[in-house]
Amino acid sequence: MQLGLIGYYSDFVVYPLVIALLGVAGLIEAGEEGAPDWIGMALVCLGLWTLIEYVLHRFVLHHVPWVRDLHDRHHVEERSPVGTPTWLSLGVHAAIALSVWLITDFATASAVGCGLMLGYLWYISVHHMIHHWHPGHPSYLYTLKRRHAVHHHVDDNANFGVTSMFWDRVFGTARL
Ligand SMILES: [Zn+2]
Ligand SMILES: [Zn+2]
Repeated sequence: MQLGLIGYYSDFVVYPLVIALLGVAGLIEAGEEGAPDWIGMALVCLGLWTLIEYVLHRFVLHHVPWVRDLHDRHHVEERSPVGTPTWLSLGVHAAIALSVWLITDFATASAVGCGLMLGYLWYISVHHMIHHWHPGHPSYLYTLKRRHAVHHHVDDNANFGVTSMFWDRVFGTARL
């Protein structure tokens, strides 16, 4: 939705804080023995985020009524602060972590939460940078910026991944 500047930038303050606090609490709970598993689980969920990002962009942002209208607006006014409010995205992450906690334990749930939130933070950061920065060529960011520009202005049925091209390649929606 259309956010004020404070609303738009609050993600970049709130998420690092929440991830750091939850990460410390989770690692303390996991203890020295459980730390490698904790880190492994967080990394798996970080990877899982890239698939969630692809699925959300392809099937939710481009197809669900109302959400689609807002996303269409982002496609046209790419620098205006349209996004998901922090309370909403954080609420979804909290609901997922609490559900995992219910069926497993706090250490696992905190690893899942940290991995997914780290992925989300990376996604919103990359998306911000590719619309506002001018990365040099060749670079990871330049490639992502060019691919995302193709999605915005040439073919909105291609290049749904923002932080990686992996799932576009898997599902045949990559366009260079
Ligand atoms: Zn799009
Ligand atoms: Zn965009």
